Amino acid sequence: MIIGIPKEIKTLENRVAMTPGAVESLVRQGNEVLVEAGAGVGSGLTDEEYVAAGAKMVSPADAWGAEMVIKVKEPLESEYKYLRSDLLLFTYLHLAAAESLTNALLEAGTTSVAYETVESADGTLPLLTPMSEVAGRMATQVGAHCLEKTQGGQGILLGGVPGVYPAEVLVLGGGVVGTNAARIAMGMGARVTILDLSHARLQYLDDVFQGRITTMMSTEPNIRDMVQKADLVIGGVLLHGAKAPKLITRDMLPLMKEGSVIVDVAVDQGGCVETTKATTHDNPTYVVDGVVHYGVANMPGAVPRTSTFALVNQTAPYALRLAAKGIDALKDDPGLALGLNTYKGKLTCPAVGEAFCIGS
Ligand code: NAD
Repeated sequence: MIIGIPKEIKTLENRVAMTPGAVESLVRQGNEVLVEAGAGVGSGLTDEEYVAAGAKMVSPADAWGAEMVIKVKEPLESEYKYLRSDLLLFTYLHLAAAESLTNALLEAGTTSVAYETVESADGTLPLLTPMSEVAGRMATQVGAHCLEKTQGGQGILLGGVPGVYPAEVLVLGGGVVGTNAARIAMGMGARVTILDLSHARLQYLDDVFQGRITTMMSTEPNIRDMVQKADLVIGGVLLHGAKAPKLITRDMLPLMKEGSVIVDVAVDQGGCVETTKATTHDNPTYVVDGVVHYGVANMPGAVPRTSTFALVNQTAPYALRLAAKGIDALKDDPGLALGLNTYKGKLTCPAVGEAFCIGS
C-alpha cells in the first residue's frame, strides 16, 4: 500500500504521525511510505532519518495523494480539498464536536478510522490513552502556571508551603486524564478531589491513591458544592465518541473564587464546562466571570517529542494491520471496527450521529 504522512498544520502542532522506526516497519512489510518534507522536525526527527528508514520525502499534495493517510490531528479546512472517496484516513477526528469536518468527510466519501473510538477487548481506548496520559499530566502543570498572578490567577502556589494551605484541585472524571492529573497534583502537594459516575472507578482510585485523595460521586449538588472550594478544576470526562456532558453550567461560575482556574481537557469533545471554548497554544487562556479558562484541544502538541513516541507506540501496530489488509483489517478486530467513523459517504459512529441528530 502507498502510505502518506503529511506534516501537521494545526497551530503550534509539532507531533508527527509516524516515527522513522515505524516507517521502517511499514517499508519492511512492502509498503511505500511518502513523508512530507519537514514533517518530523518539530519532534526532533530529521528528513535524513526518514530517508534512512526507507521513506520518500514529498510535497503535501503527494503525501495526501496516498491510499492511506496517517495523521495526528483532524484535517483542517485548508486540507478538505485532499479528501476523496478512495482515501483511507487514520487519525484523531473527534467528529462529535466537528460538524463541518463530518460533512466534508461524508461529501467526499472518505473512509475514516478515528483513533479515539478504537477500543481494546477490555473496552479501554488504546489510541486515546497515551495522549490522555500526556494531557492529564500537563493539565496540572498548566493549571499551576495559570494560578500565578501574572497569568490572571489568584497568585497561589499549588502545593502551598509549610504553614500555608495548599491549593484545592477538583478533577471531573477519574479516567486516564483524571488519574494522571490527580497523580501530578498530589505529587505537587495539592489537596485533590476526583468526581466520577462510576463507583467501580472511584473504588479503584481510592485503592491506588491509598486514601490520599478524596473521591466523590459526580452529582449536580456535589459539583456545585465543590466548584466553590476549588482553586483549580480539571475537566476529564468522556462518553465514548459523544459530546461531553456540561457538568459546570454557566450559573455556577459566579460561585467560583476570583482567579480560580479551569483546565477543560475534554474541550476536544466540546468541553465539560458550558463556558469552554477551544483555544490554541499561542493564546491558551481567557477569563469569564473572573475564572481563568484554558481550552487547548491539542495539549500534547506542546511536548511533541514525548507525545509522538507515546502515540506511535500504540498506533503503529494498527497502521501495519491496515496497511496489510486495508479496510478488511476491521473484520478481524471488532475493537478496530469501532474506529470506523465514516464509510462511503455514511456516518458509522452512532454517537456522532446523535450529536448532530442525523442517522448513522
Ligand atoms: P476516559 O474514558 O479514560 O475517562 C473518562 C471518565 O469520565 C470515565 O472514568 C467516566 O466514568 C467519566 N465520566 C463520564 N461521565 C461523567 C460524569 N457525568 N461525571 C463524572 N465523570 C464522568 O477518558 P480520557 O482518556 O481520560 O479522556 C478524557 C477527555 O480528555 C476526552 O474528551 C479526551 O478526548 C480528552 N483529551 C483531550 C486532550 C487535549 O489535548 N485537550 C488530550 C487527550 C485527551
